[in-house]
Amino acid sequence: MIKLSSKISVRPLQTGVLKGITISTSQRCYSTRNRIFTKNTNYFYTTNSSSNNQNQYNDKGNIKFWWTTAITTAVAGSLGFYFNDYMSQRHVDRSTSSIEDNNSQLYKSTLPVESTETLKYNTNKEELNQLIVDLKSVLENNNDNYTSSSSDLKQHSDSDFNTHHPTENQRPLIVLFPHSTEQVSKILKLCHDANVPVIPYSGGSSLEGHYLPTRYPTISIDISKFMDNIIKFDKTDLDVTVQGGLPWETLNDFLNNQGLLFGCDPGPGAQIAGCVANSCSGTNAYRYGTMKENILSLTVVLPDGTIIKTKKRPKKSSAGYNLNGLFCGSEGTLGIITEVVVKCHVKPKFENVVVVSFPSIAQAAACTSNITQEGIPVNAMELLDDNMMHLININDQTEKNDWVEKPTIFFKIGGNTKEILTELIKEMEKVSKKHEAINFEFAPDEDTVDELWEARKVALWSVLDSAKVLSKNAKIWTTDVAVPISKFSEIIRETKLEMNKSGLINAIAGHAGDGNFHAFIVYTNKEELQKCQVIVKNMVKRALDAEGTCTGEHGVGIGKRQFLLQELGQDPVDLMRKIKLAIDPKRIMNPDKIFTIDPNEPEYVDNEF
Ligand SMILES: Cc1cc2nc3c(=O)[nH]c(=O)nc-3n(C[C@H](O)[C@H](O)[C@H](O)COP(=O)(O)OP(=O)(O)OC[C@H]3O[C@@H](n4cnc5c(N)ncnc54)[C@H](O)[C@@H]3O)c2cc1C
Repeated sequence: MIKLSSKISVRPLQTGVLKGITISTSQRCYSTRNRIFTKNTNYFYTTNSSSNNQNQYNDKGNIKFWWTTAITTAVAGSLGFYFNDYMSQRHVDRSTSSIEDNNSQLYKSTLPVESTETLKYNTNKEELNQLIVDLKSVLENNNDNYTSSSSDLKQHSDSDFNTHHPTENQRPLIVLFPHSTEQVSKILKLCHDANVPVIPYSGGSSLEGHYLPTRYPTISIDISKFMDNIIKFDKTDLDVTVQGGLPWETLNDFLNNQGLLFGCDPGPGAQIAGCVANSCSGTNAYRYGTMKENILSLTVVLPDGTIIKTKKRPKKSSAGYNLNGLFCGSEGTLGIITEVVVKCHVKPKFENVVVVSFPSIAQAAACTSNITQEGIPVNAMELLDDNMMHLININDQTEKNDWVEKPTIFFKIGGNTKEILTELIKEMEKVSKKHEAINFEFAPDEDTVDELWEARKVALWSVLDSAKVLSKNAKIWTTDVAVPISKFSEIIRETKLEMNKSGLINAIAGHAGDGNFHAFIVYTNKEELQKCQVIVKNMVKRALDAEGTCTGEHGVGIGKRQFLLQELGQDPVDLMRKIKLAIDPKRIMNPDKIFTIDPNEPEYVDNEF
């Protein structure tokens, strides 16, 4: 009893869970003792009663019996006590060790970066040489299947549009061009066994330093060269199975011929695996959803070479975890996507584009919001600000060069008859007038539809052209945020004020229907770059304060890691890290992207330039 109570007095100092263990242990000790004691008691009574009934023991015999019984009872009792004590001690030991275990990171639901070990990859020259020999052998020692030319290595590290650029030394060792999922699996297994990081690459159109090789050594795996086929098209089911390296425009051309379309339209040259990895969208997302909503199934090679298929092809499934959702937006940090089954959408038989200009962003935004609330079915609502309209005019990017230089919304509408479109246009004109539109036009015939939409499509090139006039070293900072629709116009207004005040060339294009907008800012030197960084930080802060997100469609890469942390807080990001390390314990997949994975991350990893 003393022992028990002394244990009780010690243990409540521990956690609530431990208190629970203490109590149940104590109860078990008591009940075990009671059981032993009761057993002896029963034996005693039974013997006693038997002696009484049969009267076969004399006094001496009775004394001998009592002594024997007493000694047996004492020995059994002591043994029982010590056994019991031993067991309870063992229990204590076990619970003590589970106390330690419970405190260990293994049993935690999240994983702060401080609880991970410093990243160390294999830098042994001989072993790396052997790895390269083995990788080339997987690709049949054919020079078409890999490259180490400096221009190819550079192309697989950076692009003009990136917000973060690598140093001269940050290059992959080699770029591999596999032909099949099986080859990707063999490549990953070799890199995994050798403890060498890998960066997947598709179209290279991502913007936040997504494929920047932060670590030495790095192997780049580019699936665009040979894994760009359409595998299976099912018109009845309205889905298509493609290899990950297929450009989205090629898929769209194929589907167009079938009277269908692909729901997303990101940057030119982006490929389906890159679209999934970055959870992309584009102008069509308002009507057809983002990439997340357009995936039916994925084939993914995990870091150790395991090949998985996330689902079959049904339009809906509640079978298990949503692995499509896990890999969509994983930015190459969890595995390599080699095949994708995507939804196809039926193209409207007739389409038109309506272009409406407004005195202010606020009026333009209010009009789009009103059109949504009225239930007028439009397929896209794209906003270009006054600066953007001016840049399109002066750079002759479209046949028409007399656009009204005011905030302008480009609406895409569709229907199965011309009459439906005429009705829609009438309704839109009514709503636009209510919001003081200063110009309202639409394509008079089918040929001019594309011409009107062209202005939306060339927006970025117009900014780029203006930048090049300033200096051939000029670069563009392209970034995006998204907010609830009700906050859309206010955030843009404040961001525009700050951008215009900076004196830097700038413009805004927004997917108004989704509350998502892009800022384009030109810089030509370090000082201007620093101005850009401040503008972007403030723009993200405004979006987060307005319950928005630091990126609506471009993703996090290396450029927005700190913003993700500001947006979600520590625990959700620690959960992402926990998931990452469960799938990729060696941390070889696209290191340092989305969140930090090294408690002692070297400064050069995020050089902010
Ligand atoms: C001019 C321009 C306009 C743009 N407009 C839009 C827009 O309107 N909407 C939009 O959403 N985006 C837009 N973007 C951004 C970009 O096009 C998208 O982020 C696109 O999804 C990137 O695809 P990608 O094939 O180029 O991928 P990449 O740039 O090659 O890679 C992107 C990320 O995915 C990873 N990755 C690549 N391949 C694989 C794979 N097979 N498996 C796993 N991970 C992989 C990479 O490691 C990297 O982290 C634009 C970009 C540009 C340059």
